[in-house]
Amino acid sequence: MIAAKVLRDAIDSETVCFGTRARQNFVILGGGLAGLAAAQELLKRGCKVTLIEQGAEVGGLARTFEQDGFRFDIGGHRFHSNNPTVVQWLKDLLGKDLRVVPRTSHIYLNQQFVNYPIQLPGALSIFSPLKAAQMVFSYLVTKFTEKTRQDISFEDWVIKRYGRALYEVFFRPYTEKVWGIACDQLSATWASQRIGIPSLWRMVKQAIAPAKETPATAISEFYYPRAGFGMIPDALRRNILAMGGTIHTHTSLLSCTPLTQGFEVNVRHQDGTTLTLKADQIVSTIPLNSLLQAIPEELGSQEILQSYNLEYRDIICLFVALKRPQVSQDSWTYFPMKDLIFGRTHEPKNWSPEMVPSNDYTSLAIEIFSSRGEPTWEMSDDAILDKVIEQMHQIGWISKADVHKSWVLRVPYAYPVYRVGYEPTLSKVKDYLNQWDNLHLAGRTGSFHYMNSDGVIEDVFRLIEKLFPEGAAQVQPLSTAAGRWM
Ligand SMILES: Cc1cc2nc3c(=O)[nH]c(=O)nc-3n(C[C@H](O)[C@H](O)[C@H](O)COP(=O)(O)OP(=O)(O)OC[C@H]3O[C@@H](n4cnc5c(N)ncnc54)[C@H](O)[C@@H]3O)c2cc1C
Repeated sequence: MIAAKVLRDAIDSETVCFGTRARQNFVILGGGLAGLAAAQELLKRGCKVTLIEQGAEVGGLARTFEQDGFRFDIGGHRFHSNNPTVVQWLKDLLGKDLRVVPRTSHIYLNQQFVNYPIQLPGALSIFSPLKAAQMVFSYLVTKFTEKTRQDISFEDWVIKRYGRALYEVFFRPYTEKVWGIACDQLSATWASQRIGIPSLWRMVKQAIAPAKETPATAISEFYYPRAGFGMIPDALRRNILAMGGTIHTHTSLLSCTPLTQGFEVNVRHQDGTTLTLKADQIVSTIPLNSLLQAIPEELGSQEILQSYNLEYRDIICLFVALKRPQVSQDSWTYFPMKDLIFGRTHEPKNWSPEMVPSNDYTSLAIEIFSSRGEPTWEMSDDAILDKVIEQMHQIGWISKADVHKSWVLRVPYAYPVYRVGYEPTLSKVKDYLNQWDNLHLAGRTGSFHYMNSDGVIEDVFRLIEKLFPEGAAQVQPLSTAAGRWM
């Protein structure tokens, strides 16, 4: 109580610096990292904040699932940023709870585990000499024949830089598995933002004469909270409440009606009761289609929805607690092959010992890329477990006897899909929403921008800078840092 009062007094004394926006009522839609970080930063500047989250708890994609002493992120979440302001923000938030974890990753190719990011010439040795020569030849041919190829799709972008053979073996299978669409349907924008693996030519040069500097792709360590990534949203939630903010969980948006000044926001709690809030400003971090659906039809929202074709990719997480001390030493392991149901795994204990109840146990968080309505999504939890264990047994990883417990989590809206031609629709939606200058989009899900959590924090900083130009921390341009293809 005393801490909360000290915080409140400190805010009151600072409010005067932040001009007329301080003291305004903000309603924040969505309690993932973007919504929570925005709430904290707004409260620090003296605003009144009410946050609406439809889930049972806050955290969104960044939450940590906890059961029987086992902790799992929704796919292992490492924190890495080249932006010192963002790193400092996290250190201030978590203090001693933040660990530095070494990174080790492998990719399962041609029935072997190969270092990831792939390194030449070593990686070629897993293929027959003929296949390896074919890859190098295909790259050389590409250098001459594909110069003028336009970067429209992911396929165009990769073939131009790595050659067709490497694309077919390495890039294509995993990418199609993640996105569930053909690589010629996935926009080159995504490749250019996310692939930080050096071109084949740079890899060859690096193998012959290694450069002194480590490329960004090969980061050797990252930050991780000792009890899971969910410690970040938890700490934000505590700060928000301590500063007098209001959080409604189990509450979803019904309608969002623009008024002459501000908005009227109607929400429904889990018990069916509804609440009406008046907002001077709204920060939306929820999927764009959910926001559009909440805006009254007579304001043209239905018209926008009729031509709306933006898609989000969903994911199934299978969490398996194992009666054995370790499976591998990896931070992540990638499984690009189509016939394996899973795409990526991580072993939480390798990130922090506190992710398991005792050293006798370990666990695996297994990512299965699948969207609502697809056959895999519709499988029962038991069938998913059986299939995964059967396939992991075949590759010599774990067997049924190792399994202690398991849980399946189906997570919608995990990734915004950059399908070829998505930009005009996105611009149309954003132009429509931009007519209200007190409605702001933020975060990965809310602004349909493929960002990791560090990018989400930068996005929130930019919003704060826009709202409070006189007092916000300066952030560097968005660091769509390299090395995040997977
Ligand atoms: C498998 C996977 C692995 C990842 N790995 C990493 C990693 O290693 N490092 C990293 O930095 N980032 C990683 N990320 C990305 C990171 O999770 C996101 O960048 C970040 O969590 C996005 O936060 P957000 O608030 O923008 O969106 P979200 O987390 O999606 O938050 C949106 C919130 O809005 C709520 N909501 C939706 N609709 C409504 C409604 N109608 N009413 C009320 N509430 C609503 C949702 O429940 C959710 O809580 C990963 C993501 C995935 C899916």
